[in-house]
Amino acid sequence: MSIYQLTIEELEQFFVNKGDKKFRAIQLYEWLYQKKITSFDEIKNIKKEMLTELKKNYSLRTINIIDKEEGKDVVKYLFSLEDDEKIEAVVMKHDYGISLCVSSQVGCNMSCTFCESGRRKKVRNLLAHEMVEQILLAEDDLEKRISHVVVMGIGEPFDNYEEVTKFIKIINHPKSLAIGSRHITISTCGIIPKIKEFMNYGYQVNLAISLHAPTDELRSQLMPINKRYPLKDLIEVVEEYIKKTNRRVTFEYILLKDVNDKEIDALALAQLLKGINGYVNLIPYNETSYLHYKRSTPLQIVRFYDILKKNKINVTIRREFGGNISAACGQLRSRKEKL
Ligand code: SAH
Repeated sequence: MSIYQLTIEELEQFFVNKGDKKFRAIQLYEWLYQKKITSFDEIKNIKKEMLTELKKNYSLRTINIIDKEEGKDVVKYLFSLEDDEKIEAVVMKHDYGISLCVSSQVGCNMSCTFCESGRRKKVRNLLAHEMVEQILLAEDDLEKRISHVVVMGIGEPFDNYEEVTKFIKIINHPKSLAIGSRHITISTCGIIPKIKEFMNYGYQVNLAISLHAPTDELRSQLMPINKRYPLKDLIEVVEEYIKKTNRRVTFEYILLKDVNDKEIDALALAQLLKGINGYVNLIPYNETSYLHYKRSTPLQIVRFYDILKKNKINVTIRREFGGNISAACGQLRSRKEKL
């Protein structure tokens, strides 16, 4: 098993079970995440016998970078996993730091009609260490620290709840990567029971909801999950989430030409979100060669934005990264594997 799968408590347990001290766990965390060892032999302050035990039970890196594409302020990685499955992650360089968009599953079962990732059904969930390693490998490659993490790559994080929350716990620890919870964002298509569970999670991470439509009729066409968890219930649980956590929620809204970008859609969206402490992030669609959707015109995007503004909805237009390097969800993998 990968050592990066272990929370600090699990590591403490390991050392105690082997007759060593609990604080070794913190020492090991520093070697793993701050000094970034690539071999257990580099460790100086842990006894030889204990290092042998570690080597016997755990591996270090289990994933590899197999492809990389660079654009302006963006780097996209294709990784291979131990079972030879492939996943993607995207680095985005902002003025406030560097963020990494990590994948949470191999494939995805949500079947959103506009999304490239969903063209391949879920093969399996990623384990926490496979998400942690996406960060470590990107940091190694960039020789820079990643300050922000968004779980918005391939997969639905709330369809892999246990491992994703474990991942957050590991990278958030002050002696590991120390990525502050306010610098971590989870994006979900709206799996209501997991949003409920997440509000009791206790971490101050950001929640983003992929909304993409203001009515059930349209949303169910774009996102089949809406048939199971319709808008009214989704908005209700989000309001409960905001009340309970005191955190603002982001609503992502991809603008698809002539599908959900009309003035009437903007008005309906404003109506739906009225009075909710959140903000809308308008996303210019990344066109993909396999799907027929088109990106809204810049004029339409601005019109949509203006209507929301006029109706007192907090709104931003997402800065674009990586359109030219197939950095939209699932695109690099599909191109490499010709799916
Ligand atoms: N399953 C999660 C997280 C992965 S998708 C979710 O649904 O939120 C991350 C975000 O990228 C979602 O908002 C998704 O709708 C959006 N997305 C998918 N394909 C896209 C594309 N081609 N262009 C722009 N955004 C896209």
